Amino acid sequence: MNKQDSGIRDQGSGGPRTVADFLAAANLQLATALGLEKREARLEARVLAAFAWAVSPAWLIAHDTDPLSDAQSAQFQTLLSRRLAGEPVAYLTGTREFYGRPFRVSPDVLIPRPDTELLVELALARIPSDQAVDVLDLGTGSGCIAITLVQERPLARVTAVDRSAAALAIARRNADSLNARVEFLTSDWFAALAGRRFDLIVSNPPYIAAADPHLARGDVRFEPLTALAAGHDGLDDLRRLIRAACAHLKPGGALLLEHGYDQADAVQALLRMNGIRHPQSWADLAGILRVSGGKLSE
Ligand code: GLN
Repeated sequence: MNKQDSGIRDQGSGGPRTVADFLAAANLQLATALGLEKREARLEARVLAAFAWAVSPAWLIAHDTDPLSDAQSAQFQTLLSRRLAGEPVAYLTGTREFYGRPFRVSPDVLIPRPDTELLVELALARIPSDQAVDVLDLGTGSGCIAITLVQERPLARVTAVDRSAAALAIARRNADSLNARVEFLTSDWFAALAGRRFDLIVSNPPYIAAADPHLARGDVRFEPLTALAAGHDGLDDLRRLIRAACAHLKPGGALLLEHGYDQADAVQALLRMNGIRHPQSWADLAGILRVSGGKLSE
């Protein structure tokens, strides 16, 4: 149907009518209510519309003058209102891409972030592709780190733990749908790993200070607080984890930890105190020291 037809059909109704009308109205509402930049608002509107109508983003472009049924309109409006009330897009659509693969997410797990791809890159650089090494991911959440590592290094024996059974259920589902072989265990950090040692331990633990105003803004309000906040300085879990980690590394094994924008010095000091000889820190794409780690001496 062309523009004119749909215009005639809906004359006098006032509200959005075609795909393009709906998207334009949504862009404006998203930008106003959430303070999103225009480009971001446009992207979110398209992702939500594609999800609501079970179509591809390309379909939206090809069909921008199509009129929508009342049912389609209602499906989109329901989703849009939830987004306007702050719910993250990834929880509304139930999925987020990480390292080029789709991961299922729910409010039981942190939404995978591009920052964490740095941790993955550093880990991959330490996992040979022709040897079966033992890798551990602590606090796996959606499983995005563990699953990516084993997908990229199929010979690696990857174990992933989380204290939350609900998170592990999501991680297991992701591993199944991506055909990844990961050993999942319910464990509060190293609790279920007595006597086990690894060549590489990685983690994206909670590291935000409990009183950080960041926790009360935007998407993070809807994410599990236990996956985000860690005591007055955000270092509670990193301290526990680093103290215990060396007993679970093989000689020469490596530890890599994601942390907050201002925690590199503190994390390096903790690593040094606990047997990592020459800790290093690495910057993410925004130039922020985001991962620290090093090797246990041989
Ligand atoms: N990088 C995340 C944020 O700032 C925090 C993730 C975490 O605590 N591990 O929202």
